[in-house]
Amino acid sequence: MGTIQAIRGTRDILPEEVTYWQTVEATARQILNDAAYREIRTPIFEQTELFERGIGEATDVVGKEMYTFADRGDRSITLRPEGTAGVVRSFVERKLFGAGNVQRLWYTGPMFRYERPQAGRQRQFHQIGVEVLGSGDPRADVEVIAIATDIFRALGLQNLRLDLNSVGNSEDRDRYRRVLIDYLTPYKAELDADSQERLDRNPLRILDSKDPRTQEIVADAPSILEYLGDASKAHFDRACQLLTDLDIPYQLNPRLVRGLDYYTHTAFEIISDDLGAQATVCGGGRYDGLVEQLGGPSTPAVGWAIGLERLILLLQQLHDLQTPPLDFYVVSRGTLAESQALGLARGLRHNGFSVELDLSGSAFGKQFKRADRSGAVACLVLGESEAAAETVNLKWLATGEQETIAQVDLRSMASQLRHQLQKHRSDQSPTVKSSASSV
Ligand code: ATP
Ligand code: MG
Repeated sequence: MGTIQAIRGTRDILPEEVTYWQTVEATARQILNDAAYREIRTPIFEQTELFERGIGEATDVVGKEMYTFADRGDRSITLRPEGTAGVVRSFVERKLFGAGNVQRLWYTGPMFRYERPQAGRQRQFHQIGVEVLGSGDPRADVEVIAIATDIFRALGLQNLRLDLNSVGNSEDRDRYRRVLIDYLTPYKAELDADSQERLDRNPLRILDSKDPRTQEIVADAPSILEYLGDASKAHFDRACQLLTDLDIPYQLNPRLVRGLDYYTHTAFEIISDDLGAQATVCGGGRYDGLVEQLGGPSTPAVGWAIGLERLILLLQQLHDLQTPPLDFYVVSRGTLAESQALGLARGLRHNGFSVELDLSGSAFGKQFKRADRSGAVACLVLGESEAAAETVNLKWLATGEQETIAQVDLRSMASQLRHQLQKHRSDQSPTVKSSASSV
């Protein structure tokens, strides 16, 4: 019989790599906690209509990329392609709004999009994201951007740039849409097929076409920033000023758009030059219309999502993270010794030590080799004679020094052991290098 393989576009994250994921998660969680963001967990599948209404039928995500199926009750279900729609659905359904309240939420988890798999692009991928609901203040835009940059900085990532734009409000966009259609129409025949289709319906989306000829044409298009009304311009200028005040560098990119009606004002991406074609690690912006669009009270909101696979690719280029070192490796042989070893390992764990028990039952020589490879600081040895005497042989693996200790004493000498482990560990070559381990 053939073996069964993982589905195209999905990946197993094996234990060595999980260390990176845990570092990223712990770093982000700490920074988000410190900024009073609270985690929310919403279901991985939702009614298809949520995404059709929440993301928009004209987008690639809804038009081409969704995992949609009928369940056994014939309901149309979709595996979430992103996190915002579910969070906003929950915000409305569970009435998380309240007069003057600002909800600061974050989430993480798998997302699903039917795309062509390649480096940094999968069909099941992971995001961590934030949503601030209930504030229209440009300080909220800058707060979320600052948090994203703080996460990247804490992980030691450099060579990232922040692209910034404003898509104004719906009146600004109506005004700009006409200007853009006038500019693009003479080039219509030269645009890529998707863009030709979008010319009347959603011309702003043409600005982020990946087609080279379309990009050339669009490079000289009028900038939306020239068509913002006074209120939109004031919002954007303030956001830019606040970023400057925080020493967060950015560059204006008038072709950065989120082409839906309820996206408003600030739009941004954080981009790396070290990722090849899939260069955007974080995308976000303001979406003052979405809560209302999904049946809630008019509520300004802003957020972002970081693509974790891309972030981890960057981290792997930078650091060599290894699993945290083990305190003890326990080897034993003989029925009585094996049973004592099991209890000893458990007792040490209860005292806060990390302990791996060799279960192989093989000769001591083989067990010692595994002890050396385990990365443990010390090895505890129980043979028949130790078992009979109720002692244990403690061997410091870096130096080979040994001592025999009564089993009862081992249990009571936790603080002394901790001290010795510390000393011997600093003698060993460092197993965890990099600044990321200290964040
Ligand atoms: P792209 O232009 O790369 O398709 P997007 O605009 O579709 O990105 P968003 O919906 O803004 O992406 O999602 C935020 C982030 O999630 C992206 O910047 C990226 O890092 C990550 N991401 C999006 N789609 C995928 C995918 N299929 N595989 C891996 N990561 C992804
Ligand atoms: Mg995409």
